[in-house]
Amino acid sequence: METLRLPTSDPAAIKPPPVRWQRELAAAYRIPDELIARLNLPETCREPAQRAASLFPLMLTESYAARMRPGDLTDPLLRQVLPLHAETESASGFTTDAVGDHAAQLAPGLLQKYAGRALLIATGACAIHCRYCFRRHFPYGDAPRKLDDWEPALAALRADESIREIILSGGDPLMLTDRRLAELIALLAEIPHLQRLRIHSRLPIVLPSRVTDDLLELLTTSRFSVIMVVHANHPRELDLDCGPALRRLVRAGIPTLNQAVLLRGINDDANTLTDLCERLVDLGVLPYYLHQLDRVTGTAHFEVAEAVGLSLIRELQRRLPGYAVPRYVREEAGQAQKSPIVNTSND
Ligand SMILES: *Cc1c(COP(=O)(O)O)cnc(C)c1O
Ligand code: SF4
Repeated sequence: METLRLPTSDPAAIKPPPVRWQRELAAAYRIPDELIARLNLPETCREPAQRAASLFPLMLTESYAARMRPGDLTDPLLRQVLPLHAETESASGFTTDAVGDHAAQLAPGLLQKYAGRALLIATGACAIHCRYCFRRHFPYGDAPRKLDDWEPALAALRADESIREIILSGGDPLMLTDRRLAELIALLAEIPHLQRLRIHSRLPIVLPSRVTDDLLELLTTSRFSVIMVVHANHPRELDLDCGPALRRLVRAGIPTLNQAVLLRGINDDANTLTDLCERLVDLGVLPYYLHQLDRVTGTAHFEVAEAVGLSLIRELQRRLPGYAVPRYVREEAGQAQKSPIVNTSND
């Protein structure tokens, strides 16, 4: 709860005017009718979209919509954001905490599953709602956290010297304002055993204007080695203003990696994945992981069989240099790492 204060008593209470990315975010599509009108989609998708959006609201930016083909319900970018009737159906084996996040909490908002690195949920908010995301069930609100809220997580980090890397995740940590992000990074930088700061963000893909000079300055002047992990699933996500934003990250000297999720009807063919990997590499971004879908309620229609995923990876290995082939992994509760998928014979 916010405490009451006079607006002028605290300089922090005076809000600076919104910058471009914040204006674009404020104008994001949040109701199906707006998106249907923007893209000339058929009337028949209106009602199912409204129903599925009541479970997990629609959200996407105009920048992302601009990379879609109007009128095409099969567009691979649209498929990632348009609520569908299939989301309201249950499927066996699909649950609301498929990856064991609940058991991995060190402190509120701090997860540790793997040695040497911990993951901080910097905010629950995102600039896009990806229909396949585990987040559709995660119990956090969209309100940005206050600095005090991080104190238990910071205390847990201070107490464990084995943690060398802190991963800012969410939601999307770049939804924080530069000022809030700078404050958080400064607090983390006071913890001497933390060496690396990793940022997991989809904003450079879905809201490229977030990659401002100020952000680059902030990331390149901290004492940490900074690593950026972005999230694009289809080569067309790299169109228009996205490519230049990724290049700016890379040219600023920030190692930038991509993780993708294998999604039925979106990127489950060798040509699409090859194109995605090549275009990333050409922008200076290395393919890191290709994730098997987490089995989260409402996402069964996106699932691709592991045998199919494996044959796609083998095809990528035939076509691409080794560094351009992502590691195909699944996340299993209780494992010491993301589990490499190498054979499916006895699953
Ligand atoms: C995925 C994940 C990481 C990062 O794993 P890497 O293999 O280092 O990329 C760290 N912590 C949690 C809780 C994760 O889910
Ligand atoms: S956490 Fe990532 S995958 Fe999930 S909705 Fe947000 S941007 Fe999409």
